[in-house]
Amino acid sequence: MKKITIAIDGYSSTGKSTIAKKLAKSLGYIYVDSGAMYRGVTYFAMQQGFIKDGILDKTSLVNALDQIDLQFKFVAGLPDAAMFLNGENIEAPIRTLAVSQQVSPVAAIPEVREKLVALQQAMGVQKGVVMDGRDIGTVVFPEAELKIYLTASADTRAYRRYKELIDKGDKVDFDAVLKNVQERDYIDSHRATSPLKKAEGAIEIDNSDMGLEEQFERILSHANALIERS
Ligand code: C5P
Repeated sequence: MKKITIAIDGYSSTGKSTIAKKLAKSLGYIYVDSGAMYRGVTYFAMQQGFIKDGILDKTSLVNALDQIDLQFKFVAGLPDAAMFLNGENIEAPIRTLAVSQQVSPVAAIPEVREKLVALQQAMGVQKGVVMDGRDIGTVVFPEAELKIYLTASADTRAYRRYKELIDKGDKVDFDAVLKNVQERDYIDSHRATSPLKKAEGAIEIDNSDMGLEEQFERILSHANALIERS
């Protein structure tokens, strides 16, 4: 049976990665979290001092892009691959609110997108991949056989992210998380290069009031129908 490409796009905290991981596992496909790569570049910029007091020095970051090596690697005892930057496991720091607060301006830089899109396309060249992000169905894999566009209200999404951070032990304030979700929504959907939008042919699922299993079953049945046909 042939393998297909599955692109899952949508706003922050719509549960894209949870669904994408579950799908990849069930189909025996590779899962790629493209957001982790934008977070990795952001973390690099913070480490290098290219982001100070919330101000991003785009020129320095663009000039240093070839010093960034990003790789997904499996770590013993963990079910999912972790993001490594120049050999360092950065999975934990890239998930903090501090990185979330800086990532969207970094992701709006065309040179950053060009570098990461090329890496993402190389990872999916043999198909059998589930990738989630903002531009997967529109730019990275416009030919993907299955494209999903996940949505949910900003409050629902902020509450999910807030709970995730609190459960991890981060001391965050709900209003700060909601503000971050709204700001990222705005920047991600208004930037000039590859703004977040529903790809042509994408199936839209609003999961504000939908459980994980229901979404999973719906998407999996679309995927299986396409796999059987291919
Ligand atoms: O998916 P996640 O919330 O981890 O993504 C972090 C940020 O990376 C997004 O808010 C967006 O600015 C950027 N991103 C992007 N394109 C992608 C994936 C993520 O611009 N394909």
